[in-house]
Amino acid sequence: MTAKPIRYDCSRCPGYCCSYPRIEVKDADLRRLAKHFSLTVEEAGRKFTRFYDDDGTPERILRHRKDTVYGSICRFFDTTERRCTVYAARPAVCRQYPNGSRCGYYEFIQFERKHQDDPDFIPSA
Ligand code: SF4
Ligand code: SF4
Repeated sequence: MTAKPIRYDCSRCPGYCCSYPRIEVKDADLRRLAKHFSLTVEEAGRKFTRFYDDDGTPERILRHRKDTVYGSICRFFDTTERRCTVYAARPAVCRQYPNGSRCGYYEFIQFERKHQDDPDFIPSA
């Protein structure tokens, strides 16, 4: 089966998916991040992650930093360049997103840019 062409361009997006509050970090993701930064898994866990728990099953997620566009965004996001700083070591969930050839947010932002006649317009999500 031929892969569908990718219909989104992350370089033209301010990184909306990186602003999701819950970006899961599995054990393998944490080991990859620890290796990338030459830290122990425990150090990387403390420094880069925290636990989210809304149903008694704690989930390890990425810590955030402040962001002028979305208010808050992944701590690994470069808020000036608008890109991931750990691309090679990013968690699996970041690699999988948006799980297909299309990104709903990208289509939304392109639609708004066209209608505002402004190629750099950033609508509030
Ligand atoms: S929201 Fe879509 S277009 Fe924007 S960075 Fe994420 S995957 Fe790329
Ligand atoms: S690790 Fe990179 S791709 Fe994943 S949310 Fe953070 S900045 Fe985005």
